[in-house]
Amino acid sequence: MKIPSFSLENKVALVTGGSKGIGFGMAAALGEYGASVTIASRGIQDLKKAEKDLTERGIRSKGFQVDVTDKEQVEKLIQDIVTEFGQLDILVNNAGMNIRKPLVEIEEADWDKVLTTNLKGVFLVGQAVAKQMIKQKSGKIINISSILGQIGNPFQSSYAASKGGINQITKVWADELADHGINVNAIAPAYIRTPMTEDWLSDKARYEKIVNSTMLKRVGDMEDLAGPVVFLASDTSAYITGQILAVDGGWTAK
Ligand code: NDP
Repeated sequence: MKIPSFSLENKVALVTGGSKGIGFGMAAALGEYGASVTIASRGIQDLKKAEKDLTERGIRSKGFQVDVTDKEQVEKLIQDIVTEFGQLDILVNNAGMNIRKPLVEIEEADWDKVLTTNLKGVFLVGQAVAKQMIKQKSGKIINISSILGQIGNPFQSSYAASKGGINQITKVWADELADHGINVNAIAPAYIRTPMTEDWLSDKARYEKIVNSTMLKRVGDMEDLAGPVVFLASDTSAYITGQILAVDGGWTAK
């Protein structure tokens, strides 16, 4: 029996939204285990800073300025990665955003923005990457969902809808792409301290409610996602597909 390895040597990864927050943390983790890492987001300054930080950690990396809601830009991104890096083995489909409002105050434009970024963006990137992985006859797709894809919480209508959608397309893609040697899974974190959640977590009452909802009695850090993403990107998870892995301190089991 040969024990499978966590090593990602000779693998090329793409992390959308890798310029900050959870995406940056996961990009660094994949690089730490040997992958070459490309990151894609819109803001050029954050992108350059993240690329520099990854390079200083000894990781071969490159930032691409891309809006994941734009099909042409997404298709060009995948072509550019393959031209420069020769292949694409791991996708972390992470770029996302949130607009938190009570149901009766949500503008149509709010709804469209969240769904377009979180769900259409994941679809566009997943589709373009799958075409490349089908050619390579292998790959690992990791969609970033949320516990809001499974549970209900106030003020999160559009976000929860987008993450529930991600859970479902993860299962559909897993079945569709299995014959091509591609595993598709999702990671569903609870609250992780990032630029997206800073304001939300700064409310003391809300913060305490969140902490009390988790068995482990704390909010998550970017480091908490390093192991899960490396696991799902590596050969150690070869027999796992179509799964939604909660990284939530026990929230959804409580
Ligand atoms: P951040 O706001 O810290 O980072 C979001 C990243 O996505 C940035 O790099 C941003 O860069 C990029 N991005 C946003 N929109 C686009 C776009 N249209 N095209 C390309 N890139 C884009 O968020 P988090 O790190 O907190 O969240 C990352 C993912 O994790 C999201 O999918 C989120 O839903 C999920 N998640 C987060 C949780 C948390 O508690 N933080 C919990 C559960 C899930 P730029 O704006 O420059 O484009």
